[in-house]
Amino acid sequence: MKYKSTRGKVEGLSFSETVLEGMAEDGGLIVPEEIPVLSEKEIEELRPLSYQELAFKLFTYFVDDIPKDDLKALVYASYQTFRAKEVTPVVKVGDVYILELFHGPTFAFKDIALQFLGNLLEYLLEKKGLKVNILGATSGDTGSAAIYGVKGKKNIALFMLHPHKRVSFIQELMMTTVLDENIHNLAIQGTFDDCQAIVKSIFMDLPFKKKFRLTAVNSINWARLLPQIIYYFYAYFRVSELENKKSLRFSVPTGNFGDIFAGYVARRMLGKERIERLILATNENDILARFVNAGDYSVRNVKPTISPSMDIQVASNFERYLYYFYNENGEKVRNLMQTFAKEKALRFSEEEIKRVQEDFLARSVSEEETLQCIAEFYRRYGYVLDPHTAVGVKAGLSFRDGYPLVCLATAHPAKFPETVSKAIGQSFKLPEEVERLKHLPQRVEVLPNDVEAVKAYLARWAIL
Ligand SMILES: *Cc1c(COP(=O)(O)O)cnc(C)c1O
Repeated sequence: MKYKSTRGKVEGLSFSETVLEGMAEDGGLIVPEEIPVLSEKEIEELRPLSYQELAFKLFTYFVDDIPKDDLKALVYASYQTFRAKEVTPVVKVGDVYILELFHGPTFAFKDIALQFLGNLLEYLLEKKGLKVNILGATSGDTGSAAIYGVKGKKNIALFMLHPHKRVSFIQELMMTTVLDENIHNLAIQGTFDDCQAIVKSIFMDLPFKKKFRLTAVNSINWARLLPQIIYYFYAYFRVSELENKKSLRFSVPTGNFGDIFAGYVARRMLGKERIERLILATNENDILARFVNAGDYSVRNVKPTISPSMDIQVASNFERYLYYFYNENGEKVRNLMQTFAKEKALRFSEEEIKRVQEDFLARSVSEEETLQCIAEFYRRYGYVLDPHTAVGVKAGLSFRDGYPLVCLATAHPAKFPETVSKAIGQSFKLPEEVERLKHLPQRVEVLPNDVEAVKAYLARWAIL
């Protein structure tokens, strides 16, 4: 399988190039030359496979420049770190199915992609004799998944900025108790926006970026989307069998359009008759819901919510959907993205909205509704939802018309103990693995809110 850009000017990339480059040189995102559509026979052959077997088999459709045995070893190593044998178990709660994606080392679904990406990067760098220094900023949640993805990996160093004293206690512990030499936690005396501004400014200094081989592992990398396709298949097989129905729906809490784009790819591979529609759930940062319901993709101010990992206005993976929506017309996408960069808005016609609604149903969920949903699930079923998952459950339940509903659970409630305790009206016991972190030594470098200070640190500790 070769890869190409959503803006039409780059094609013929190998899978390895796609992973190492992240973004296409024409400014577009990288997508496979073609999304395979599986036959009935191919699909049924996948049904009995374990999670790891399924992942390996599905990856072989997209990866042809890594020997099969090596690819298999990468997959198995990546999911060995999960606490659940099934990796992403599906549990029935009331009359919905919860697809638990939070059994990885940092209790959030990003582990599913980043555990694989860490192993894959190490493998590719070793083969090519390269080294990289990864630079990123986190408001708390995604940082730890990246850290656990690359800790201890050869030829990779990671520099993760977070706002000093402005991330939750647990988030901080999950990052700073990782003592591996290649992990550098930099606590910046400023806000998350300051951290992002520093990272952006360093990436714009091209000679510096080149000299220190700086790279990012952000959510636009195809190798982050690919592992997310697997659990749609896995859950499809379990739930269609239990319900004895061919057709079902997934509800996906999203902000960056990452997780739901993986669902879109799974739907194209499995067919619309199997995944009838995807339910796109947002918190009060509702740009994606406005897009589906009214054709209004216009940026508003970001509002902090109790589901902070979805507090996003510009959805970085949205461009990939636009590309398929316009039948892989790179020029059209290029023009639209230029308009969007200028006007911070895109508008879609009635006819287009109708077409979008053949793929998605969408709803924005308020803070109050999110808390109520957590409370109700706890009261009725004794099951504790995290706030992101609750957004998806609430949106999913508002479109019930006979299809079995699978709701993606993107984080363990222990990651957000304050919100969850408030919702269920009692304190919430942390899992032992999290409790244990409180007693571990920490390593963190506190730096002033100053680009030059961060650059000096990088220059001192980057691997070359
Ligand atoms: C990142 C994240 C999301 C949203 O993922 P998208 O890539 O925006 O789809 C949802 N929930 C949690 C807990 C997350 O960490």
